[in-house]
Amino acid sequence: MACVYSMRSSLFWMMLVSLTGLAITGCATSVSTTTDKPRLAQQSVLSTLWMDRAGEYRALCHQAFNMAKLQVDRRLSYHRTLEKPLAVIVDIDETVLSNVPYFSQLIDKGEVFPRGWKVWMQMSTAQAIPGALEFLKYARFRGVEVFYISNRSINEGLTATINNLVKMDFPFADQRHLLLKSKSGNKQPRRDRVEQTHEVILLIGDNLNDFSLIFSDKPVVQRNNAVDMMSSEFGKRFIILPNPIYGDWEGALYDYQWGTSSAQKLKVRQQLYNQ
Ligand SMILES: [Mg+2]
Repeated sequence: MACVYSMRSSLFWMMLVSLTGLAITGCATSVSTTTDKPRLAQQSVLSTLWMDRAGEYRALCHQAFNMAKLQVDRRLSYHRTLEKPLAVIVDIDETVLSNVPYFSQLIDKGEVFPRGWKVWMQMSTAQAIPGALEFLKYARFRGVEVFYISNRSINEGLTATINNLVKMDFPFADQRHLLLKSKSGNKQPRRDRVEQTHEVILLIGDNLNDFSLIFSDKPVVQRNNAVDMMSSEFGKRFIILPNPIYGDWEGALYDYQWGTSSAQKLKVRQQLYNQ
């Protein structure tokens, strides 16, 4: 999704495939049929149901924000230098706002992202992730600012996203505190901007790229190794929320070639599962 994915142009991908004649796994390219997209969409049924219905999902969200609250309390109990005001950085999609109704709709229609994303985003009706609103209000109460760094498009999504956050009563839902995507999906320059003026206590997200460049564009094994290497940061500076529907974890399966056809995605998933 635009909020997370760095989509390569489909034209680029088509050219690449036609030039090499190879698919990303080195196998012959799969040509999509009319049933591939609905089949791909159907594979999201269980993960979508889990995010929609599982008490365990809600519990994990509360756990994440409870950890975040502990970290804020911990930082505020230290001797405070007054050089910079304190801040927390949060992602938006599947971190503070839930897009489960959008993903349910994709399954119903046999479609895949980004179909209908812009329309959904501009409806500004996404609900809050369990625990998110309470935590961010608590942060404000303790004098900690909130910055929202998201890969929603700044042109298509800024007003709608502010409206959505305001509607849900999220604090700091204004232009100064929303750093959406203009060109690059790399969030590091936006994190750096916040760090210039604030001391960032913690970062909260559902995607490893919400935390550090160290996880970016890495194949699956290296990505997992980077997580293990940074293990002491999770639950402290990095607070992660569960998202089994989408994310860079999925992109890593396709070597981040987001323009890959539905047929090829189905094939790669099956191949990796069989390994
Ligand atoms: Mg997200």
